Amino acid sequence: MGLKVCKFGGTSMASGHIILSAASIIESDAERRYVVVSAPGKRFSGDIKVTDLLYKCSDEFEAGDIAAFKETFEKIRVRFMNIEAEIGKDLNIKAGLDEAENEILSGAGRDYCASRGEFLAAKIMAAVLGVPFVDATEFVRFKADGGLDEKTFELGAEVLAKYPRAVIPGFYGLGVDGKVKTFSRGGGDISGSIVARSVMASLYENWTDVSGFYACDPRIVNSPKCMPEISYQELRELSYMGANVLHSESIFPVRSAGIPIRICNTFRPEDAGTYIVKSAKRKVSDNIVTGIAGKKGFTAITLEKSLMNAEVGFVGKVLSVIEKHGISFEHLPSGIDSMSLVIDNEFLKDGILQTLLEEFTAAVQPDRLYTHENIALVATVGHGMTKNVGTSARLFKAISEAGINVNMIDQGSSELDIIVGVENEDCADCIRAIYKEFFN
Ligand code: ASP
Repeated sequence: MGLKVCKFGGTSMASGHIILSAASIIESDAERRYVVVSAPGKRFSGDIKVTDLLYKCSDEFEAGDIAAFKETFEKIRVRFMNIEAEIGKDLNIKAGLDEAENEILSGAGRDYCASRGEFLAAKIMAAVLGVPFVDATEFVRFKADGGLDEKTFELGAEVLAKYPRAVIPGFYGLGVDGKVKTFSRGGGDISGSIVARSVMASLYENWTDVSGFYACDPRIVNSPKCMPEISYQELRELSYMGANVLHSESIFPVRSAGIPIRICNTFRPEDAGTYIVKSAKRKVSDNIVTGIAGKKGFTAITLEKSLMNAEVGFVGKVLSVIEKHGISFEHLPSGIDSMSLVIDNEFLKDGILQTLLEEFTAAVQPDRLYTHENIALVATVGHGMTKNVGTSARLFKAISEAGINVNMIDQGSSELDIIVGVENEDCADCIRAIYKEFFN
């Protein structure tokens, strides 16, 4: 018999009624033994996620505005008490809320505060299913640099071996200081992957509100193709570039163990979903492209210098400038006598861009130094692109026929993706043009 780990995201935990549907999905398959949950998410557009309310509480507490904190915490209280009422059982939620409020007010910290949505949601799911609650702090460990500590998996195997079934809160673990520490937003997907790897599951099911991984954002193209199977690497590239079905780091724990991920829809459990596997099986007739995703808000800084190619250490000097400021770059397209650094605008606020330009000038004396702001990056991803002659010709023809100017081109050496830089305002049109070329 196989062993499945199921992770239910925020929309699958948004109300008592939906939690009951999630519970019946779990109970319909005896192999679904370990369950990881997110905090209650949005019930309707315009609703506020519990995690967002908790971050607001933390900001208000830090600002010393206790009246505002109490008001926001009351909203969280009402959400959870409504969930309990809809489930129709006494789940002892009031005590959990009181304890969380007291701990936050006695300075437990921002990450502790943000983690309480998952903590309480897991308590609820455990009570509904009648299975043990196991806190993520018992085995999810972070290193001093904030990365996941490898001993997490061994510890997870040891702790979870004591429980044939369990519910575990997602999104957090324990930092080196012995305090609760959270992943980045959406990190419940990583927690699910950690549990799957710890118990060596045969499948990691990620239950969400869509029926799988779409070839592009349905808000940009109407009813895009839902891919039956994609590879870990394709998922990583597309989710990093803005496809937000799964956290881009969630493949790492399961990938080395070859555990497949299935994306499933809590609201349409009968749908096949998308399988994310080591190498997706593709027939010649299948799509060349697996997906297209775009991300706005980048700046390209270009340095030109005659004989740059012969100047030993040129790139190293440029990179040491950004390293000094703790900045990472997205892409580094280069020519014989020019190179560009494509950097997320988030890193360039508060005069940092100007400082970088001055430091580049001092470090390498370029002949020309200029920037191109407001760039969007559009990635076209697919293992099929490597084998098909003429793919890039089709891609660039489609973009040019849509009247879109390309500022930058970067093809990864793995040939898995082609990334183009376009103006922010052309991002959606560029995705539409590429989709039309490869999917219609
Ligand atoms: N609740 C967290 C968030 O909203 C983590 C998650 O849902 O995965 O980011």
